[in-house]
Amino acid sequence: MEAIGFIGLGKMGNPISRHIMEKFTLAAVYNRSPSKTEWFRKNGVEVCSTPADVARKCSVIFTMLTDSEAVSAVLTGKDGVIEGIRPGSLVVDVSTIYPEDSQRIALKVMEKGAEMVDSPVIGSVDLATTGTLTIAVGGSEAAFMRCRPMLETFGKRVVHVGPNGFGLKVKLLNNMIMGSNYAILCEAISIGEKAGIDTETMEEIFSGGGANSRTLEMKGKRMMERNYDPQFLLAHQLKDIKYGLRMSMDIFSPTPVTSAAASMYETAYNEGRGDNDYSALIETYRNINRKA
Ligand code: NAP
Repeated sequence: MEAIGFIGLGKMGNPISRHIMEKFTLAAVYNRSPSKTEWFRKNGVEVCSTPADVARKCSVIFTMLTDSEAVSAVLTGKDGVIEGIRPGSLVVDVSTIYPEDSQRIALKVMEKGAEMVDSPVIGSVDLATTGTLTIAVGGSEAAFMRCRPMLETFGKRVVHVGPNGFGLKVKLLNNMIMGSNYAILCEAISIGEKAGIDTETMEEIFSGGGANSRTLEMKGKRMMERNYDPQFLLAHQLKDIKYGLRMSMDIFSPTPVTSAAASMYETAYNEGRGDNDYSALIETYRNINRKA
């Protein structure tokens, strides 16, 4: 039986690690802010004081962290996973980071005789809580087969996309679609509001046909209620769109739609909305489309 470790118990890491616990032995956890480990301590999981300690105790180490900088620090920094990792172990990074950064870190893990997969998740806190995320995996076939049963505890669709970095490439394309889709929703709804149309009426009409989307289903109510309690931070949505633009530029692919959406998320971020849910983008559009 694998001893599993989990690092990064934030909005997504918390429900995901609890699903893993339902079927496997969660042997150790680590979180930078210790308060988030309390529930795990009370439920019999060892709380480590460094990521290296988690790696010393576990054969499979999950990480769910903010971005490339955080994953680099936790894996390759002082007291990081790589200091403690044992030959034959597997790192399963479920964070959304830049694919090339992930590939670089995977090589360092391999130098220790261990392996890594990138397994970013698609779906927000609600799907993490119900264990119905979609997961795109990049890495070797053997590593994929080894972690698949663990991923299936929180994912309803688990797909092996290709070698290291490929799970992340698909994930970034996914968020280019999702982020741009939400931006056009904000554009249309704020124009409709300025033209005097009731927001609820627009939601009813749009959800009935080709304008409907999972984004509208998830965010429509929040737009009406002006509820921006964080599920997926606007700062994280912007991070993913920027990674997607960078990936596209690297292979000389134009991004006229995503670039326009990115400018609006940048504006919202500069207005101080980074720590809100990304649905707060509508307020930036509402400011532009205020009635004179
Ligand atoms: P979150 O609640 O902000 O959690 C981030 C985690 O990373 C926390 O545990 C945080 O520790 C840790 N962390 C950040 N920088 C660190 C560093 N330098 N050293 C050590 N730990 C560090 O974010 P989240 O919403 O769970 O998102 C996590 C990842 O999932 C991101 O890559 C995001 O893009 C992706 N994602 C999120 C969603 C969503 O709906 N939320 C959906 C799909 C994918 P502290 O507790 O100490 O801050």
